[in-house]
Amino acid sequence: MFLPRVGLETLKPYSVEEINWPIKIDANERPTDLPPAVKAKVMEKLAALPFNRYPEISAQSLKTAIGAAYGLTAANVLIGNGSSEVLEALCFSFSGAGRSIVYPTPSFSMYGIYAKLADSRPVPVELNADFSLDADKLLATAAQTQAGVVLLCNPNNPTGTVMPQDQVEYIVANTKSLVVVDEAYHEFYGSTSVGLLKKYPNVAIARTFSKAYGLASARVGYLLASEEIAKTAGKVLLPYNVNALTLATAEIVFSMRQYFADSIAENSRERTRMAAALGAISGITVYPSQTNFLLIKSENAAAIVARLNERGIGVRDFSTAPGLSGCIRIGIGTPAENNAVLEAITL
Ligand SMILES: *Cc1c(COP(=O)(O)O)cnc(C)c1O
Repeated sequence: MFLPRVGLETLKPYSVEEINWPIKIDANERPTDLPPAVKAKVMEKLAALPFNRYPEISAQSLKTAIGAAYGLTAANVLIGNGSSEVLEALCFSFSGAGRSIVYPTPSFSMYGIYAKLADSRPVPVELNADFSLDADKLLATAAQTQAGVVLLCNPNNPTGTVMPQDQVEYIVANTKSLVVVDEAYHEFYGSTSVGLLKKYPNVAIARTFSKAYGLASARVGYLLASEEIAKTAGKVLLPYNVNALTLATAEIVFSMRQYFADSIAENSRERTRMAAALGAISGITVYPSQTNFLLIKSENAAAIVARLNERGIGVRDFSTAPGLSGCIRIGIGTPAENNAVLEAITL
């Protein structure tokens, strides 16, 4: 007799609405393809790749390059199929049955799913009305529920807001759980918790190539952590988990990451411009953001989304999600795309 694994009935299949919007600003992707010089190097490297061979075991070259950029070694780094796989590996290896996984809410919707996949209890802790975090409430919840892992998204998706670095440190210093800082939007924020790695044994950082570095297609992310944490989390990854095409592409992108500086800076300028313009519209609240998107709130959210969609603009509608009523997440696109958004909302 065959039956699904116990507990799996509580998991809903992950579903996102997939529409090929002419202006696609619903998934926080980079609005344009790789810088041409970077793409040319990637294609050159892929052309020379022996497709018949397995990838380099444990992705040593990319780990070494990433580690070196942070004063760390390859032993402090893991490479995953997106940071999703890194986050999942941390939950699998530091949580499990009888423990909880604690995270602020609203935040990245996958956290609860990682918890269930790890046979752990998902325990969301509600953010304040301005999306700031009550650190003591989170710490008390982690202690009471025997959290294996505390997940902090900084900057936070989908709110765009940030936790001050001293608050992250306060949490790390006052819990025995592993604190994972998901820095998917780090490149737009500039600030990082990497400095905590040298001070505390119970902290890990997850990063992705999917957002600022424009590699959502390739699925690649990485962990920065102590050797002990990296070694333990690495146990639950399959051998050759990341394919050779992705590794080759990520190596080029990481070595040429200065080519992305201009577009990251432009994205931030555009975010400032959009925040001011949207904030000037009566009935719209714009939350402060240090990411490549803005969360706005309006009583007319449904009408705004409909108007954007009519004009071929896809955004992420959170207006009926818990804790996000009336909220829409609007990605920052190219200047022309952003103008189209403003025009659609103001008309
Ligand atoms: C996009 C995103 C990720 C995952 O990205 P990958 O494509 O799996 O690397 C992780 N965390 C947050 C908060 C994100 O927004």
